[in-house]
Formats: sequence, C-alpha cells, structure tokens
Amino acid sequence: MAAETDWGRIAADRLAALAGLSAPGPGVTRLPFTPEHRAALDLITSWMEAAGLSVRLDAAGTLIGRREGPPGAPTFLTGSHQDSVREGGAFDGIMGVVLALLALEKLASEGVGLPFAVEVLAFADEEGVRFPTALIGPRALAGTFDPAVLDMADADGVTLRAAMTAFGLAPDEITGLRRDPAGVLGYLETHIEQGPVLEADGEALGVVTAICGIERHPVVLTGETGHAGTLPMQMRRDALVGAAALITEVDRMARATPGLLGTVGTLSVAPGAVNAVPREVRTMVELRAPEDAVRARAGQAITAFAEAMAGERGLGLDMTRSYHQPAAPCDPDLMARLEAAVRAQGGRGLRLASGATHDASAMADLCPIAMLFVRCAGGVSHRPEEHASAEDMGAAVAAIGGFLAGIGT
Ligand SMILES: [Zn+2]
Repeated sequence: MAAETDWGRIAADRLAALAGLSAPGPGVTRLPFTPEHRAALDLITSWMEAAGLSVRLDAAGTLIGRREGPPGAPTFLTGSHQDSVREGGAFDGIMGVVLALLALEKLASEGVGLPFAVEVLAFADEEGVRFPTALIGPRALAGTFDPAVLDMADADGVTLRAAMTAFGLAPDEITGLRRDPAGVLGYLETHIEQGPVLEADGEALGVVTAICGIERHPVVLTGETGHAGTLPMQMRRDALVGAAALITEVDRMARATPGLLGTVGTLSVAPGAVNAVPREVRTMVELRAPEDAVRARAGQAITAFAEAMAGERGLGLDMTRSYHQPAAPCDPDLMARLEAAVRAQGGRGLRLASGATHDASAMADLCPIAMLFVRCAGGVSHRPEEHASAEDMGAAVAAIGGFLAGIGT
C-alpha cells in the first residue's frame, strides 16, 4: 500500500522554497514587481503546470492557474497575495496560494471532479508596502480599480505604471480585467490568522465571519501651556490629561462592546517639555468592527464623549472622521460549507472575525467571499518568526478540498 501523501509537509517545503525568494535581510521581503516577485511567479507557475493547470499572468500582475470545468460552467476563485511586508514572514498571503493549489492536487489525486472551473490566484500586492496603494489585482477583477493610482510612486520615484510596465504588464488594460459576476461562484481566501484566538482555543482552523470595517478619527485637543511649577492645578487646561481620558474611554468602550476594537496608536504633545503643561495633543482614534452599525455607533459615542470631556476641561476640540472602510461580511452559505469542511477534519469550525484587511475585502465587490484562518504560532505575523505548522496546513488543504467538493453538491 502506498504511503498517504503528506500535504502539510509539501506545503511547508514549498513555502520554505518561496521564502528563499526574498530581498536580502531577515525574514522575507518580497515586494511587488521586483526580481523576487518574478522568481516566485516562476516557481508557482512550475507547480501549477505540473498540476495540469493552465497558467497566465493578467495585466494587473495576478498569476492565474486555471483548472477547467465543464463547458460553460462558472468559476470558483481562490488564492491570496504573493507579496510580504519588509522583513516579514513566510506564510502571510503566499500560504493561501500554496494551500489552494495543493487542495486541487489532492482532489485530482483522489479523482474528484468538480462541476465548475477553479482558478488559483496569486495577487501581486496586498500589503501596500512599496506603493501607497494596494489590492490592484482583486480590484481589477471586481471592476473597482482606479487608474489614478498608476501615477503613484515608490520611495525611489518609480511610478506604479513604470514598475508594472517594466515587469512586462499592461497597466492600461487593467480596467478590462473586470469579471462578470454571473460567471463567478465565489472567492475563498486561506490566510494565517495573524492573531492568537485559534491557538488559545486549541483549534487549527477557523471560519471567518466578516472582515472588519475601519474608521479613523484624527483628534486635536487644545489647552494652555504654563510652567509645571507655578501654574496651580485648579487653573490648568492640560490637553494631555484630556487625551488620557479619551484614550481610556476608547479602551473601556471597546472592551464593553462585543466585536468592537478600539486603538489609539499615535500621540504628539506640544510643547513636549518635562516642565511644561501640555498645550496641544494630536492623536488618532481607530475603530474596527465586523458590523458597520456597531462601529458607526461607537464612532458617534466616542465623539460625544470627547465633546463633553473637552467642555468640562475647558479644552478646544477638533475631531472628524477622516477615513472609513465598510466591513465585508462573508457569505452565510459559503461559511456553512466551510464550517462543515473544517468539522470533517476534526475541527469545531470556530467562527471569528478578521480584524485585518485582505484581498477578500476587495473581492467582496465581485462575488460571495469566504475565508479560512489557519492557526499561527503566538499569533505572530509580519515578522520573520511567523509560523504555521505542517500539520495545520495539511488540515487546511483537506478542508479546502472538502469545501470545493461540497460546492458541487
Ligand atoms: Zn496577508
């Protein structure tokens, strides 16, 4: 009897090979439209071709490996991004490409046919590290690509258009990549969790419910400075003490509201002297939630809190909502099928939201989306230590295969 194929071990080996295709330095640095990107595409292409897929690179730099379905049948899309952050890990993004391809290889080895075509996608740029934009590939497919971003430049002054052209792509043809939603069944993205929830729950795999929406509120609090030794406490209008109250309320509210994540990650204090009462604080409140209504209510509540607090403390307040991105809910039917596939591998089918943005966020404008999270050690990502075990990846390959086979039924 032949030994059973260890799909998780193959995944680990392939990801190790891809991790070698990196700019110098610790961990993996594979930015879009670079020699490392080209080398990764060549290697993935060789695996796709060996698996019998037809392979092409679209005008936006998305590598597409297609397993044909019956004539006229729709297509199911699956994959993730090939790029990394600077000095990142070997799993974020690229693992979703490798595991999707292995799931197709597993189904083929078992003689499982599908009543639809499947395309494995390796998007060029999700992290947005090189250019001040991202998600070109999925936005092209969804028809939400804005050609104005082609004029954005990287730190060396190279425009996105020039970088793509030098890579052999046709940036002016990107708007023509839009897919007809009628021909697309859905999109599944497999990704490391980038958080500690699955590990804490002892689960290898999790089913994502939604990709959180985000809003950001820049805040300027203005008081009055004075000498730390001569200005009496009762006469102070200390902008930093006001900011401290605001930050504490953001944390309190987020802890008390299911699903809500609230963060204050920046703070600048003027005059910023050890013996001067702070006159001005500039900071930013960021809120995330899987439900837009929860996030919007929190944004209004924190603004109302800031107004009342500033009034009580005699501070000036300038607070606006500068940015917001709606949540992308996962499709209930695809979630249920994914949960069944995870349970078939012995998992509980734990459901959790994604606090981070993914290619799936943009794909949600094209078709129903689903996401499978894989446990990562210590919840660590975007660092060289990022790690998912071969065993967990093997379970993911089986779950993806089971999920795809289930869609046909
Ligand atoms: Zn990612």
